[in-house]
Amino acid sequence: MVAKKPRVLIVGGGMAGLTAAHRLYTTASDLFDLTVVEAGNRIGGRIFTSEFAGDRVEMGATWIHGIGGSPVYDIARKIHALDDSTPWERMDGYPDDGVTVAEGGVVLDPLTVSSISTLYRTLMDTARAGGLPANTGPGVGSFLRKGLQAYRASHRGGAGEAVEDAVFAMNENTERTYTSADDLEELNLAAESEYREFPGEQITIARGYSRVIEHLASALPPGTIRLGRKVQRIEWSPDGGGTAPAEPPVKVILEDGSAMAADHVVVTVSLGVLKAKGGMEFNPSLPSFKREAIGRLGFGVVNKLFMEVEEGEDEVPSMELAFEQEEGSKRHVAKIPWWMRRTASICPIYGGSRVLLSWFAGKEAAELEKLSEEEIISGVHATLDGFSAVKVDRRCNGSAGRGGGVTIARVMRSGWGSDPLFQGSYSYVAVGSSGDDLDLMAEPLPSGGARMALQILFAGEATHRTHYSTTHGAYFSGIREANRLIQRYSNSSNN
Ligand SMILES: Cc1cc2nc3c(=O)[nH]c(=O)nc-3n(C[C@H](O)[C@H](O)[C@H](O)COP(=O)(O)OP(=O)(O)OC[C@H]3O[C@@H](n4cnc5c(N)ncnc54)[C@H](O)[C@@H]3O)c2cc1C
Repeated sequence: MVAKKPRVLIVGGGMAGLTAAHRLYTTASDLFDLTVVEAGNRIGGRIFTSEFAGDRVEMGATWIHGIGGSPVYDIARKIHALDDSTPWERMDGYPDDGVTVAEGGVVLDPLTVSSISTLYRTLMDTARAGGLPANTGPGVGSFLRKGLQAYRASHRGGAGEAVEDAVFAMNENTERTYTSADDLEELNLAAESEYREFPGEQITIARGYSRVIEHLASALPPGTIRLGRKVQRIEWSPDGGGTAPAEPPVKVILEDGSAMAADHVVVTVSLGVLKAKGGMEFNPSLPSFKREAIGRLGFGVVNKLFMEVEEGEDEVPSMELAFEQEEGSKRHVAKIPWWMRRTASICPIYGGSRVLLSWFAGKEAAELEKLSEEEIISGVHATLDGFSAVKVDRRCNGSAGRGGGVTIARVMRSGWGSDPLFQGSYSYVAVGSSGDDLDLMAEPLPSGGARMALQILFAGEATHRTHYSTTHGAYFSGIREANRLIQRYSNSSNN
């Protein structure tokens, strides 16, 4: 009689889930009976390449953060996804020809901008190197602000406090999009020293990030990935289960009421889904160490807004936006809505593109999802007008028929916060949590005596202690959990 293969069910067809499936299938194809259930109608999860006004754009993951040692880079290069003839987002790398404009339209002296931005980077580098003075508080926000105060005390007669504040805040706003923290004071300062980045260039993927996902999926036998299958509840057996040969220890209940039995379930849904009430149920409920780690870690909203400039208008330069921090001050433009006021930049997605992009984080990112297209366009127009000196200078023959700014014809935005399958964008180590919580996220269940049963395993970006929040963190977590299963069965004494 042929022995039954252990049944592995992977929940989620994003980077972590598909990496785990790819690894299990390509390394041990005969060992497992493998299925991936994905609630959405596409694979990729927070990787989602799209198109806007003829350009290739990314709604989610955008950058390979450092090509040195990145597995995502290795795959993209291997499958020839790094070159293409269709123009793509940031095909020319980070824009380095931009101007920093103060609210009201004054182009700031590059020296002023660079001294404050260098101060900012030095402070963040200090935090990441772990060299913090003993009396620092728990949050990144106050550490940064103290750094700015100390700088001021030793650099009198600079560009003026309002301008320095505006440029410093611009850097903070960029950090908010990097981390997804609404308020940098919620970001755990001590944990910054554990975060790791790859060396080398940061690049985008010419043929789209989704190509990497499609490559992983293409190795799996047809029928392995089931789309539109939303898991509602996972029933497991903390006492070990699986002793009765006919009855696999885990039962996965789908939204349509059907059930799938499994020996091992790999949960890869986002931390946001695990945090949300009713996002994913477990019966019995998850042990307290897991629930508490889920509760303590941070998971914020980051969204991208693409804006198409009306045909025939002049090129818009890359603009970093230094907003006045004091309401009612001379340069404060009252018409600019609050949800635009913590946006760090408006940039063409590559030099010469008619598609502009801004990133939003936190409350502003959540608000962006609720607004109508007209409200967004009107808020963007007010902002472009409020920072319009650059445009006025550049377009003497202006024909847009609107103030000093350009006209936006239409917009496209991501909506990660309100999407029930994500409930946000990526994780961060919040004040009150630590890197240990990321390790706890990765702990398989049951823990304790029945540990080897590996009924529920956890992968996904929020389970990686040093590369959380990234595609490569998700990738590494998928490899880790696949290896855990492969190792479990390669050691026959554990069977
Ligand atoms: C706007 C934005 C920009 C980003 N930029 C970058 C970047 O530049 N570089 C970078 O490295 N990373 C970036 N990231 C982060 C990166 O996209 C993620 O870290 C990574 O893709 C997460 O992969 P994952 O497999 O852990 O989770 P996910 O991609 O969330 O996959 C989980 C899957 O589970 C599915 N699912 C959810 N609930 C259920 C259910 N009940 N039943 C079945 N399936 C379910 C979801 O539909 C999803 O497909 C960005 C993310 C966002 C949102």
